[in-house]
Amino acid sequence: MAEPTPEGLRRYPHTQGYFPDRAQIEAAPDRELPCTCVEGCPPRCTGECGCKACEQAFAEFCDVAGFYGQGDFDHEAALQAYREVHTDDRLPGGTGA
Ligand SMILES: [Zn+2]
Ligand SMILES: [Zn+2]
Repeated sequence: MAEPTPEGLRRYPHTQGYFPDRAQIEAAPDRELPCTCVEGCPPRCTGECGCKACEQAFAEFCDVAGFYGQGDFDHEAALQAYREVHTDDRLPGGTGA
């Protein structure tokens, strides 16, 4: 089982570097989903680095935002929406666009 990276800890500080377990009422870490992001990851990583926590976060966003079930999954559009929605994140390292 992978361990969260220091970057993972920074991204999920309330759950010790793991993705929050939705089954719990309080913020609890889901030990199946460690964030293994590295410093070079974008602020809203979608798991392209192999991170399970961020992949799950992106998948949940796509689900809630209705990107699934519209025929072909438009990854580009979903990705763009995902990163726009979270512009209030205080994570450094944005694209600076
Ligand atoms: Zn991550
Ligand atoms: Zn990442």
